[in-house]
Amino acid sequence: MSTLSRKSAVLGLLFGYLLVVSPANADDWTKYENAYFEAYSDASRRSIARDLEELENFRAAAAQFLAFQTPDDAPKAQVLIFRSAEDMAEITGNRSIRSFMTSIDGTPYIVMQGGARGDWTKSSVRHEMIHVLLRYNPHRLPPWYREGIAEFMSSTEFRDGDTKFTIGNPIDREIVRAPPVPWDELMDDDFRFHTAETAPGVSNARRQAWQLVHFLAIGNQFEHYENLGKYLGRYSAGELSYEALENVFGMTPQQVGDLSTQSFEGSIPYYAIAFDEDVRDHDFIMTEADYEQIRPAIEVFKARWGASRN
Ligand SMILES: [Zn+2]
Repeated sequence: MSTLSRKSAVLGLLFGYLLVVSPANADDWTKYENAYFEAYSDASRRSIARDLEELENFRAAAAQFLAFQTPDDAPKAQVLIFRSAEDMAEITGNRSIRSFMTSIDGTPYIVMQGGARGDWTKSSVRHEMIHVLLRYNPHRLPPWYREGIAEFMSSTEFRDGDTKFTIGNPIDREIVRAPPVPWDELMDDDFRFHTAETAPGVSNARRQAWQLVHFLAIGNQFEHYENLGKYLGRYSAGELSYEALENVFGMTPQQVGDLSTQSFEGSIPYYAIAFDEDVRDHDFIMTEADYEQIRPAIEVFKARWGASRN
């Protein structure tokens, strides 16, 4: 309990301690804060403990694997975890949506249903969280890589009592009945995934972007890993995507794409990576909160979801 006494918060409970406290009163909101997140929830402390733990595990895994630091002045991601499906549906108007991510004035918000019915272990929130982390990255990145790395990290699993995370697991994105996007188009500087949102091929495009990242980052025992770094470096310095590919790999996008498809005909590798020491901040400080603290954000979400339905 020595750590507790050092915290000045009203209820400075260590995160691990949450597992043994009794559920909060149903009408109460609690705030949980660590170095990266400010989470608010009306769910029982016990039921969201794993959500918070995984959120922080995932952030740390992504930061470690992608080797980037969150800038000191970055706003903390705001996380709202609802106890009931009704509360989520009241915002989105759609009971099948268990989570979403958005931002208000540059501050990222993760909104999700908590506990076993939550969406956290599914890929969508993780995918979006990678986009948040990429926004902190000062380097210019090609669209296929932004989308592909978000897909790639979304299938991460935690192993061995959360001492390891996996990379390269298959993603559960379905392959739709639409032709694949030509590789030259997909790897072009101007390819836009979101404009294809309603087109049948967009799921394929995301899957292809995942395949490229998978192949170039960890395929053939990391054969292309260094060159991927060089390609990204050249792209960031202003080269066009196809120029950088040609200069580093000596291949066209079509050739790289074909090679990645060939490699996927064999078994698809994945790896378990040990967490670096002390990269995770599981000491969520818990304080009593009030719905009024989050009401303004909820009003913004409601207005946005309402507008998207019209
Ligand atoms: Zn995306």
